[in-house]
Amino acid sequence: MKRDKLIFKLLEEEQQRQEEGIELIASENFVSRQVMEAAGSVATNKYAEGLPGKRYYGGCEVVDEIEAIAIERAKQLFNAEWVNVQPHSGAQANAAVMLAVLNAGDKILGFDLSHGGHLTHGSSVNFSGKLYEPHFYGVVKETGLIDYEQLERVALEQKPKLIICGASAYSRDWDYAFIRSVADKVGALVLADISHPAGLIARGLLTDPLPHCHIVTTTTHKTLRGPRGGLIMMGKDFENPWGLKTPKGEVKMMSSLLDMAVFPGTQGGPLEHIIAAKAVAFGEALSDSYMKYITQVKLNGAAMAKALVARGYEIISGGTDNHLMLIDLRNKNITGKAAEKALVSADITANKNMVPFDDKSPFVTSGIRLGTAAITTRGLKEKHMQTIVELIDAVIVDPENETSIKKIRKKVHKLMEDFPLYRED
Ligand code: PLP
Repeated sequence: MKRDKLIFKLLEEEQQRQEEGIELIASENFVSRQVMEAAGSVATNKYAEGLPGKRYYGGCEVVDEIEAIAIERAKQLFNAEWVNVQPHSGAQANAAVMLAVLNAGDKILGFDLSHGGHLTHGSSVNFSGKLYEPHFYGVVKETGLIDYEQLERVALEQKPKLIICGASAYSRDWDYAFIRSVADKVGALVLADISHPAGLIARGLLTDPLPHCHIVTTTTHKTLRGPRGGLIMMGKDFENPWGLKTPKGEVKMMSSLLDMAVFPGTQGGPLEHIIAAKAVAFGEALSDSYMKYITQVKLNGAAMAKALVARGYEIISGGTDNHLMLIDLRNKNITGKAAEKALVSADITANKNMVPFDDKSPFVTSGIRLGTAAITTRGLKEKHMQTIVELIDAVIVDPENETSIKKIRKKVHKLMEDFPLYRED
């Protein structure tokens, strides 16, 4: 077969972009060579609708073993009693949970997208806001911390069937026990979407939601450093006191309802090559070297936040407990959109982001979100966070000065030269 030079040339360009720049997008990371190898393996050729041992296709013996190992490793990593490793993405995982536990029009209560929540937690432009009736809680304006009083008030008023916690841009830990106590008062289920801090939670660096929340979803590609994908877990609460039914009207255990909501509910054949890569990544995340890595992610987050605050940047909530931070740029007289553009021209990749109570549109925004998961994989430590903040600041104070941006870009490349990607291989 003729090699597709066009696409492979573009992939080389993308590799170069990743190697040269400083990657601060909080939802990104660099997978290991073996995770990539599994994701690009022959398992991509296999159809395997169903679950290990219960497939709708022949020839699944090997992928059954792979998926069973992925399940066992995920259980061990998160101390979960039940998991489904098949969701193609975080959004798919959340869609499956909602399909399993809600009927069209049911009320849900989620963290406001404009305060740091995710689209799939009830946004009007997403299935979750179109198929269900969304209600929201946010953060306290003065502190930037989750407004638990508001969460309780809205829950008592609206009596949602599902309360969703977890976020895309919230830098603090969550009080899952409190949220569960509110849910119990109104007979709601709790879904914790730990997509961002999953790796920190798995290795005990943040509060574990599994003992408190009925269902936990995550992506596998952020702090967890696996291939792009999703995961659904339960720690307990397998019973189904709500009498939730399958589409055929049968009352089943929660775990069966969730399995059925993934397939055939929202997906067709699972991506067994990605499940193989997930298994590899879960194995890595159980290792001592990952423990060192994820500890450093958190240390780097704290160091970056401290250096930003020292330069007069306003971080929502004043700092971070995890790998990310949301910066309100209004005191720096630059929009999120302009900051993102200027930073990207210096090969520092970050994304614009709404800040709570933002007066600008989602296309412009007043903030940027930064994360340390990817740069920590490259080997950067606390002292480098200081350097990175100096580089960011030099861009932000003079965003349209092409000469200065050019000089900063050179410094960025120089810094990253010392931390080559995939060096160990
Ligand atoms: N949930 C949260 C909290 C997220 O931050 C994200 C992605 O950023 C998702 C779900 C969706 O994940 P995916 O992009 O894999 O669909």
